[in-house]
Amino acid sequence: MGRLAVGVAVGVAVATCAVAGVVVGRRLRSRRKWRRVVGVLRELEDSCETPVGRLKQVVDAMAVEMHAGLASEGGSKLKMLLTFVDRLPTGSEIGTYYALDLGGTNFRVLRVQLGGTRSSILSKDVKRQRIPEHLMTSTSEDLFDFITSKLKQFVEQEETVSEAAQSRTRELGFTFSFPVKQISIRSGFLIRWNKGFAIEDMIGCEIVERLQGALMKKGLDMWATVLVNDTVGILALGHYYDADTVAAVKIGTGTNACYMERADAIIKCQGLLTSSGGMVVNMEWGNFWSSHLPRTTYDIDMDLESPNPNDQGFEKMISGMYLGDIVRRVILRMCEESDIFGPVSSKLLTPFVLEMPLMAAMHEDESPDLKEVAAILRETLEIQDVPLKARRLVVKVCDVVTRRAARLAAAGIVGILKKIGRDGTGGITGSRSKSDAKMRRTVVAVEGSLYTSYMMFREYLHEALNEILGEDVAQHVVLRTTEDGSCVGAALLAALHSSSSSSSSSDGLHRRQ
Ligand code: ADP
Ligand code: MG
Repeated sequence: MGRLAVGVAVGVAVATCAVAGVVVGRRLRSRRKWRRVVGVLRELEDSCETPVGRLKQVVDAMAVEMHAGLASEGGSKLKMLLTFVDRLPTGSEIGTYYALDLGGTNFRVLRVQLGGTRSSILSKDVKRQRIPEHLMTSTSEDLFDFITSKLKQFVEQEETVSEAAQSRTRELGFTFSFPVKQISIRSGFLIRWNKGFAIEDMIGCEIVERLQGALMKKGLDMWATVLVNDTVGILALGHYYDADTVAAVKIGTGTNACYMERADAIIKCQGLLTSSGGMVVNMEWGNFWSSHLPRTTYDIDMDLESPNPNDQGFEKMISGMYLGDIVRRVILRMCEESDIFGPVSSKLLTPFVLEMPLMAAMHEDESPDLKEVAAILRETLEIQDVPLKARRLVVKVCDVVTRRAARLAAAGIVGILKKIGRDGTGGITGSRSKSDAKMRRTVVAVEGSLYTSYMMFREYLHEALNEILGEDVAQHVVLRTTEDGSCVGAALLAALHSSSSSSSSSDGLHRRQ
């Protein structure tokens, strides 16, 4: 072989080795990066773990905090607010009633005609409207003017001439889903606003008086009979359909729960007597906190950057407003760890850009190539050309975050059942053994899009409920979805407490002297 030929052969060999070296180096680097991304997922999985033992600790903590919140004002992060609702609809309510539901960006007006036998809602008309943004931070006069003018239009549209000519004052249930200190079934003072509302002149004011004044100004002959929170409406509707309903839970933009408590267990209000011996308590459970809740660095960062740090801790792990943002934060971290998702986009840095329905759609994407995931990453987070294996990782992130949320919600529900002795263990003291505690059929009314429209969430919640309670007990616990409970339930309570109803219970509610 000539020298030239040897030289060429050596050159080629060296070049081949160099290329191979570059390729191997690149592969090693990309493998390292992939491992780092997978590491982010593993870390998330570890810190979101909710084995049944931990869930049971959350159950106990919920029951203990409920006790503390009932024992004294400020005794717990759970406010355990009195609602003065001492009885729930039975199905015998009869007549036409209205409801006004204010509790978020939308408000609703409703009219129902009740037939007087269980489950006979003869007609139901609902109108939903957005509250113009400027009114959310304006004055109470502006807000109530707007609401009552819409209510007046609605009444005029819905009523026939002969109905309008009847002399009876129309009765209204008012659903006002903000923290309220109630002093009677139709009177309460606003503690503080949330959900984007900030009308300073209303804080500390009596709410029904404002509404009643605005109704009068409009010349609308209507009487607000009850003031309730949305979960109380859900409980009322649940009970209207099924007398075994003892609690209600809402898991939507935010989350909350209420339940029927024994009046004598409400220690902070000593001597409280009700005609039924019970009272619905609005837990404001979104604010529940326990060191047993599995918290990640993403939760901590989201909380610190929120307008209400250290508040609504449970809600921030469970509800629709927040889950998408936890997922966004995890994807951002993955992006920072590796270039598998390309450069960090400005969208990925934008808080709350990944909304709950999009996150649910990614989680439930069943296409073999995860088309939906790719589209949402591209269009919402501006992350292009994500390889399939990375898209699978995103689905897994959604799964971890949703599974934790649903399992914690299940633990919260069992916490309520435990507090009222319906978890099959004989209540918080555990005085009776499982075998001799006879389980009664127990229904919990549930509303909110996470539960009703997000199948994976619902399935994880049911699975956890079975795990915590055990099948023997779980078979007696029914979660029942209701619809429009926040307003239909308020109208039902207005009917139950109507001045024309013979058994109006507000008279039967007083403090022992
Ligand atoms: P509210 O605002 O009164 O809580 P909803 O019960 O409808 O009303 O809950 C709204 C929340 O549910 C929002 O956070 C919304 O993004 C989320 N959501 C709506 N549709 C879905 C869905 N299909 N899957 C998961 N979450 C959803
Ligand atoms: Mg609502």
